[in-house]
Amino acid sequence: LAGRLQGFGTTVFAEMSALATATGSINLGQGFPDTPGPAEVLDVARAAIGTDADQYPPGPGTPGLRAAIAAHLERFRGLSYDPDAEVLVTAGATEALTAAMLALVEPGDEVVLFEPVYDSYAAAVAMAGGVLRPVPLAPPPADTDGAVWTFDPADLRAAVGPRTKLLLLNTPHNPTGKVFSRAELDLVAEVVLQAGLLLVTDEVYEHLVFSGAGHVSAATLPGLRERTLVVGSGGKTFSTTGWKVGWACGPAPLVAAVRTAKQFLTYVNAGPFQPAIAAGLALPDAYFAGIAADLERRRDVLVAGLRAAGLPAIAPEATYFAMVDVRGVRDDADGLAFCRDLPERAGVVAVPAGAFWTAGHADRGRHLVRFAFCKRDEVLTEAVDRLSRMS
Ligand code: PMP
Ligand code: GLN
Repeated sequence: LAGRLQGFGTTVFAEMSALATATGSINLGQGFPDTPGPAEVLDVARAAIGTDADQYPPGPGTPGLRAAIAAHLERFRGLSYDPDAEVLVTAGATEALTAAMLALVEPGDEVVLFEPVYDSYAAAVAMAGGVLRPVPLAPPPADTDGAVWTFDPADLRAAVGPRTKLLLLNTPHNPTGKVFSRAELDLVAEVVLQAGLLLVTDEVYEHLVFSGAGHVSAATLPGLRERTLVVGSGGKTFSTTGWKVGWACGPAPLVAAVRTAKQFLTYVNAGPFQPAIAAGLALPDAYFAGIAADLERRRDVLVAGLRAAGLPAIAPEATYFAMVDVRGVRDDADGLAFCRDLPERAGVVAVPAGAFWTAGHADRGRHLVRFAFCKRDEVLTEAVDRLSRMS
């Protein structure tokens, strides 16, 4: 393994999913839904197989999907992008993020991000030869409704230096379920503009936001559109995480740079899924409101069930995930050991959140464990029942 990838072994999702399979446990580790997406979307993909859509689509994505992505960002965020020059279809948000790092970060350039971070970020920055400058997010006390993850503005300002190239944001945020407030985004904007940085904002959970929180796209802040790439994905919004249809939108020079890297990573993306995600993006507003309300209800089932089982939980504002603080549950406060024991003790799998802190900082999240609630009601009910009877 090349030096730049040292330390990035098998992901914790793979380890925990294998553990779930091996022990027949309920898998609340990796975040993927266990119900199909909307028929309007699935039917389009089925009908496209066996047609010209089976051959290489255009490199930047089909014109229909690019137009649908632009129309969707206009409809929900008031952002206007030219489908030809300012929209790029990618193999999931993952490729958009990695291609953006490869295209925009020079070896030795610094990338500021909030920690914990989604697991692909550190590897993407490392592949580009960049250096991470993490800003800590502090967890709220567990079992406290309305409490949210926060950061110290001084830490954000201190993370930026002469070598900083870009800020990599994720809102709504995995693994914390935090939605960055308008005031927090104003601060991000101030720092980005003052230091002349680029902004890459991963908003794959934009529609999975619960009552009381409102998602604001970072590209809508004054002055940011011209230096921001907005990354999205159809995976979460349409319950099609295996399709890997994502995108990056931004000013033409940034999108052209990412397209250059993308050309040599995957060249093009799966043809039949592109018209299907285009159909999804055009669904009426009620669809998008419906998935958020449905997921919020399931969040409540899981969080209440965890708490009733004596597991102190932090209720998220968005996404698929809730965190549990194991300090009051285990003397060693070790989330990884808790997750390794859980299949045996309860027949449930979760992921240790320490894996979402960067090298050297795993101790900061060592006591936290992440549970996914993007599962059918009966699965969640069975999982919390098993947890309540945990040995
Ligand atoms: N960003 C975040 C924050 C995520 O949680 C995920 C999905 N796990 C991704 C990116 C990757 O999205 P995709 O499957 O579209 O590559
Ligand atoms: N986004 C999902 C999660 O955080 C899936 C991640 C993955 O498998 N890489 O669980």
